[in-house]
Amino acid sequence: MSAKVILFPGKEKRVFGRHPWIFRSDIEKTTGSCEPGDIVSVYAANHRFLGRGFYNPQSQIAVRMMTYEDEEVDRDFIARRIREAIAYRKTFADLKSCRLIFAESDRLPALIVDAFDDILVLQCLALGMERFKSMVVEILVEELQPRGIWERDDVPVRRLEGLDMITGLLYGEVPDRFIFRENGIQFYVDVKEGQKTGFFLDQKENRAAIAPFVRDKEVLDCFSHTGSFALHAGHYGAASVTGVDISDYACVFATENARLNGLDDRVHFEEANAFDYLSEKSRAHRQFDVIILDPPAFTKSRATIDSAVRGYKEINLRAMKMLPPGGILVTCSCSQHMTPGLFQKMISDAARDAKVLLRQIEFRTQGKDHPILPSAPETHYLKCGLYQILG
Ligand code: SAH
Repeated sequence: MSAKVILFPGKEKRVFGRHPWIFRSDIEKTTGSCEPGDIVSVYAANHRFLGRGFYNPQSQIAVRMMTYEDEEVDRDFIARRIREAIAYRKTFADLKSCRLIFAESDRLPALIVDAFDDILVLQCLALGMERFKSMVVEILVEELQPRGIWERDDVPVRRLEGLDMITGLLYGEVPDRFIFRENGIQFYVDVKEGQKTGFFLDQKENRAAIAPFVRDKEVLDCFSHTGSFALHAGHYGAASVTGVDISDYACVFATENARLNGLDDRVHFEEANAFDYLSEKSRAHRQFDVIILDPPAFTKSRATIDSAVRGYKEINLRAMKMLPPGGILVTCSCSQHMTPGLFQKMISDAARDAKVLLRQIEFRTQGKDHPILPSAPETHYLKCGLYQILG
């Protein structure tokens, strides 16, 4: 008998709303052989067919919906979805520097694939998708002929799915470090040891958006990682750029990236805690024309949102105090729990406390290669506001 998941009455509503997850507590019963990782058919309490998805009773997210049609989820299906993801990006992106597959947003739940030059980096965050992993690798090779594919599954969320944390070569060859281009700037990337998949592609369009505001300016880039915003500022003609990151590894890497682009005369990096750096410099009345804040997610759960808001507010407040009238603040948050509304409220609270009049130039989000499903607000995680201090 085929594997079926039957929901409690009313729980079909989220599926009709096209939210891609079914929680364990939504399931009344299963019939047939429903093993962890299997493809199951999902039914409403009245036995109406709702679609198919991956089943994992070990996870809070017990089913991840793959389709709302009565169709087989097999190799052809996965290949079709991968081809669709690539075709979508071909319309606007450089396939050598973009996220090729963004999980639920590409209807390939829990699967992430980033492209850096001719190397792909894959992340697979659920048991059901893990079963398709070698097939996904084969299809990516057929479609894109990469030089190599590297797995970066060293992420704790895999444990929630009963999966091990692993990294390693999936196909071809992957150098320890190589160069790729973003917006015409060269970057070394280390997909094996770097953070996440080695580079944060989601900010690509936001980095380009600073171009009109940095020419001949003095720029501070806090949480600079391998220097991507800082190098963009230098490339777009900033007079001087200081990048600050707490990681020695990131600062060394960023300095090499500056050298690679012949920008090391104007772009420098300092290893420091950005909170301390901002507080010291603001006490010393140091000013910058443009300040970029792109911190890590201060919260990964809703429970700690209050302390996260305090952290975001502190750095934004200090930055606002260090900007002269006309100065530009580029401020980001990549925490999905910090909703755009909460983030904007934090910004206006910080402006009130800093006693400045702020004007919003643009309120941006993640790049088009990380598309958002309005039906699943979790997919909308990045906020990037460009503001000007009026006085
Ligand atoms: N702006 C970067 C991404 C930042 S990721 C880009 O566009 O690529 C967050 C970075 O913040 C990491 O490199 C991490 O080392 C750094 N970091 C975390 N806590 C920090 C702190 N308190 N002070 C300075 N840097 C910090």
